Formats: sequence, structure tokens, C-alpha cells
Amino acid sequence: MLDVQRVLLNERPGTNGEPVPSNFRVEQATLQPDLIKDQVLVRTLFLSVDPYMRCRMNDATGAEYLAPWGLTEVVDGCGVGVVESSCYDGLSAGDTVTSMNWPWQTRVVMDGKLLQKVEPQLVNGHVSYFLGAVGMPGLTALLGVRKKGHVTQGASQTMVVSGAAGACGSLAGQIGRLDGCTRMLGICGSAEKCRVLVEELGFSAAVNYRQEDVATALKESCPNGVDVYFDNVGGDISDAVIAQMNNGSRVILCGQISQYNKDVPYPPPLSDRTLEAVLSKNITRERFMVLNYMEEHEAGILQLSQWIRSGQIKVLETVANGIENMGVAFCSMMKGGNIGKQIIKISD
Ligand code: NDP
Repeated sequence: MLDVQRVLLNERPGTNGEPVPSNFRVEQATLQPDLIKDQVLVRTLFLSVDPYMRCRMNDATGAEYLAPWGLTEVVDGCGVGVVESSCYDGLSAGDTVTSMNWPWQTRVVMDGKLLQKVEPQLVNGHVSYFLGAVGMPGLTALLGVRKKGHVTQGASQTMVVSGAAGACGSLAGQIGRLDGCTRMLGICGSAEKCRVLVEELGFSAAVNYRQEDVATALKESCPNGVDVYFDNVGGDISDAVIAQMNNGSRVILCGQISQYNKDVPYPPPLSDRTLEAVLSKNITRERFMVLNYMEEHEAGILQLSQWIRSGQIKVLETVANGIENMGVAFCSMMKGGNIGKQIIKISD
């Protein structure tokens, strides 16, 4: 038998409540490592914490494609690891694999069909990138900009990104620039994040919404108005951005994290004033869902990994250590403790 550690959902924070680390519990368990046909024993290298998990903490997620986590059951999400032994055709010991249904457990026996083999050389060996820049957040940034942004080379467009220093936002701004936007303004929650956006990622300007007035900063930094808005947060920040958007501009409705601890539907209804701005300026505001473009993920991963290897995109990560810190890392990410993708390293 193998000794493993795993994380269970201990209690639900409630639909109107901030998640806290004690909502999760770590326990020791044993694993029977003898495999039957189609099973694979994997060692977990890195796990991901993501905003959508907040919905999975509720009894009802509010989204038909997301199942709630069961109370006192092992939590799961995106993970990457290495195959230690395999009874599944197509996977062998030493392969690097990922899954969107990876249990928060140090070693796991999984059905091989739930695992995708990945090539570490795509990302120069940084396999945690398969959870971020060449995983779901990277694809969200790329396909969100491409499917809903209508960025046009040579059109001198201005893009605003909220949640700009996070996993999706930090990439969305860089992709907007590569695709032809000439001004990128990032909105985020600390002075250090603002510094990183401008000095390291090539944003034209950044505003710290906790300290500065977003509307005033937008007027200064976006003198020609806003053409494309990559919206990760919703709420007051998005009201301020939409008020300064141009006629015929586009909101990429990616996420609304400022509302995730509240009992409201997704997407939350706009205020009358913002709705009026959207209608009167003919602003397109379509919901984007990365899972609706599965057939484009493989090509997207190749594009993102090529940009990373050539240095055209810079990847930022905040790495916590140890499976016992999953709950702490999740709650920290939900409150802005991360710059770039929040990752948890589980083993070497
Ligand atoms: P991030 O790495 O951006 O982490 C979340 C960030 O949200 C925090 O770092 C924090 O940064 C910010 N934040 C938290 N609370 C607030 C608030 N009240 N107001 C403003 N900002 C806040 O996460 P991801 O990149 O993984 O996700 C970003 C968004 O994209 C989320 O809304 C998520 O749901 C969405 N998403 C959508 C997908 C889709 O298919 N549509 C797929 C993947 C993600 P700060 O310090 O700036 O406050």
C-alpha cells in the first residue's frame, strides 16, 4: 500500500460568503497501487486553484457544466503529474500527463481516459505552464481575444484588461498587443502588480483600483476611449470601463470574480446606467466560454507555447508549496494574493 495525502471539502462557505482555508481539510490515506486494465498510477507534480472552483464549493454551482464538490469528498481540478505505472494503452511510466479532473491527492490511480499526455519540451520543461499559460487560462486569454475582441492590426485600438495581473489577464494584455492593439491598460489590485504590468509585460499603463479612481485613470490613459475590454471582474470596475467605451466597441465577458462570493446569477445583471451605455453605444458584450472551443485548444496550445519559447509572451506564476496549502492558496488567489497563475507544487 502507498501512503498518500489528500484534500477534502470540509464545509461550504455558503453562497453569500468568503471562502476560508478551513473549508478544506487534509487527511492521510492509503492507496492500493495494483492496477487493473485502463488504470494509471500518477504522481502529482502541480495542482491549480481557479476562480470557477468557488461555484463548486456551493450546493448548486449555477452552471450546468460544473458539478458541485461533495462534502467530505476529495476535491478535484486541473493538475499535472507523471505516470509511475500504467495499464492503459498509450501511456507509459515517465509520461507527463494533465487532467481537468485531477484529485487533490499526492498520488492517484486514475482512468487513463481522463489523462492527456503532454510534451514538456513545448514549454522548455516548465510543466506547471500546462495549468496556466498553455492550459485553460492561456487558452481563455487567446480564444477570448480572438473570438470576441475583433482586434484589428493597424487600427490603433485601445484595450483595457481587468484582473490584469492574474493568470488570464496577464496573458490577454500581451496577446492584445501581439494582435495589434497599440494601447493596453491593466486594472489590478496593488502597486507591485501595476509595476509588473508596465515594466515586465509591456502594458502601456496600469491602475491600482484599491488606491486610485479607475474612471480618472482611464480618462488619462485612454484619451481615444476604449475599443476592447477584457472583463475578468465585473462590478464597479466594469461599470467605470464601459462608461468610457467607444461606439461599436467590444466587451469580452470572461469572468466576474468581484461577484463570486455573492448569491447572484451568472452573469450578474448590469446596472441600468451601464446597460443604457451598452445599448446606446452599440457595444457588443458576449459571454465567452473557453470550453465552447474544444476543437481549437490543440492549435491554441501550439501558438501559446511558440510565443513563450520565442520570448514574445512572458509567463508569471505564484507558487505555493505542499498539498496542505491548497486551501490557503485558493483563498489567497480569490483575494488577489497571486501575480500571474497561482500554482501549488506537490512534488519534485
Ligand atoms: P486570476 O489569476 O486573475 O486570480 C483572480 C484575481 O481576481 C485575483 O488575483 C485578484 O486580483 C482579482 N480579484 C479578486 N477579487 C476581486 C474584486 N472584488 N475586484 C477585482 N478583482 C478581484 O484568476 P484567473 O486568471 O484564473 O481568472 C480570471 C477570470 O477569468 C475569473 O473571473 C474567472 O472566472 C475567469 N475565467 C473564465 C473562463 C471562461 O471560459 N470564461 C476560463 C477561466 C477563467 P487583484 O489583486 O487585481 O484584485
